[in-house]
Amino acid sequence: MRKIIKTKKLINGVSKKILENKCIIIENGKITKVLDLKNFKDKKGDKVYNFNKEVVMPGMVDVHVHLAFSGITNNRSFRAESADLDYGAQALRGYAFALDHLNYGFTSIRDMNAPGNVAINIRNMIKNNKLKGPNILACGLGLSVTGGHMDQPGWGSHVNFKDMTYPCDGPDEFIKGVRTQLKAGADFIKTNLCVSSTYDLKKPYKQEMSNEEIEAVAKITKMLNIKVASHTSGGSAITKAVECGLHSVEHGHWLDNKTVDLMKKNNTFYVPTLLVNERNFDFKENEKFKSSKNWKWLELSREAKWVSLKKAIKSNIKIATGTDAGFMLPHGEMNYRELEYLVQGGMTNMEAIISATRIGGELLGINVGTIEEGQKADILVIKGDPSKNIKILSDRKNIKVFKDGKLLENSI
Ligand SMILES: [Zn+2]
Repeated sequence: MRKIIKTKKLINGVSKKILENKCIIIENGKITKVLDLKNFKDKKGDKVYNFNKEVVMPGMVDVHVHLAFSGITNNRSFRAESADLDYGAQALRGYAFALDHLNYGFTSIRDMNAPGNVAINIRNMIKNNKLKGPNILACGLGLSVTGGHMDQPGWGSHVNFKDMTYPCDGPDEFIKGVRTQLKAGADFIKTNLCVSSTYDLKKPYKQEMSNEEIEAVAKITKMLNIKVASHTSGGSAITKAVECGLHSVEHGHWLDNKTVDLMKKNNTFYVPTLLVNERNFDFKENEKFKSSKNWKWLELSREAKWVSLKKAIKSNIKIATGTDAGFMLPHGEMNYRELEYLVQGGMTNMEAIISATRIGGELLGINVGTIEEGQKADILVIKGDPSKNIKILSDRKNIKVFKDGKLLENSI
């Protein structure tokens, strides 16, 4: 049976204009045609949806989430959650978080490090039609140098968590890390090039992976045709990695001009994750913390990121929408704020929507993010026009979701 979505207003993720009087034809979960309404002829048995007042747009993509984490903001509680919950419990909870993204119109997400294969298992259950949910790409465990950003110190010496992270030291161990994550089912590799540093606030970041380690990851992933995403702060490590063919720069608080030029030349994606930076300023902090170097770092990185975003927009780099949901912020309900920040940084509303749809889809490479022939029928029906007001996306009651051509009734 064909499904037909008729609409007076269509955002297709490609054009910066709203298209009028269109008709989307869906067969077997895919978009097979997008026609002008006047050229459409119905067939017996078609299931037709008429959306005369709503705006129809592609399902959105959050390219940076952490399904294994809840978004709890207290550092001690964040750690306690990891100790309290079995990986099985984390996976069940993570599945609920995946649905939170879906219900807010994010039909595709990319998980950027989940202990114990949590995100890989959620992805498999959805992919194998055992559970309904968004499309998920997962990296398994991020590769980090020992004691690095994703292998954090500060646990008691008797504490021994298994599979929380994948520490590697030296090119060979990084190669082993890549292969181990792929064996576990990773769709791509996450690394950690550089990290924030409060040692010298004139240079508030430091390189973690050596150039040799970066080269080794680049070489093996190129051979295997696997993409690499990397947590970054600033400095020479990003330049090196972009030179080596890194696929996406995550965070990138301090992007220098040379790196931005290289990103343009090499088609590297930028995922600024503005929300997670701004989120630090949602809370009332005590004066002691506000006079600390850590607070200063938050202020510096916040300022720097707006500058990096401006450079990236000016240079026409592909900027994808990623929130870091799970880390400092909940899943789904705040995602729209990342689009608002992209607008604050210089994009139009429609450009921010395209970042959260087409560009995110291109980054994932799984036929999502636009309403075009051959794409998955992941489609949103919005009460109101997000190209005029992004905030409409903050209320899930304004969002109806078609996933693989099926309308999710009452959300799930
Ligand atoms: Zn993250």
